[in-house]
Amino acid sequence: MNIFICNFYKLNVVNTYMFINESVEKKLYYRKSKLGNEHQYFRNTRVLTLRCDNCNIIFQRQRKDMDPNRINNNVFHVCGDCDAKRFAQKKGQQWKNIWSLPASSDLDISKL
Ligand SMILES: [Zn+2]
Repeated sequence: MNIFICNFYKLNVVNTYMFINESVEKKLYYRKSKLGNEHQYFRNTRVLTLRCDNCNIIFQRQRKDMDPNRINNNVFHVCGDCDAKRFAQKKGQQWKNIWSLPASSDLDISKL
């Protein structure tokens, strides 16, 4: 049981910075006018840099693709290569193990 707690604690430390930063990317687009001339125009896209909570790689995602309430470090972020559902199940299992600790357990609650 002690080994499990240690691992879980370490995992939390690794995941401290899930949301790293936000940057603006300028993208060039072309459109054709009625007369057939090509016009170029720019669009700014806000790109978020995040760290995957499952495999720890850094990945980017467009801000408009994300729920504004999830752009913080209180929630988990999972990259496109990882299975978010499987990750959530794993997390749920870890919390269940913590909650099912016996009340008489002498573990320090602040260390969980
Ligand atoms: Zn991942």
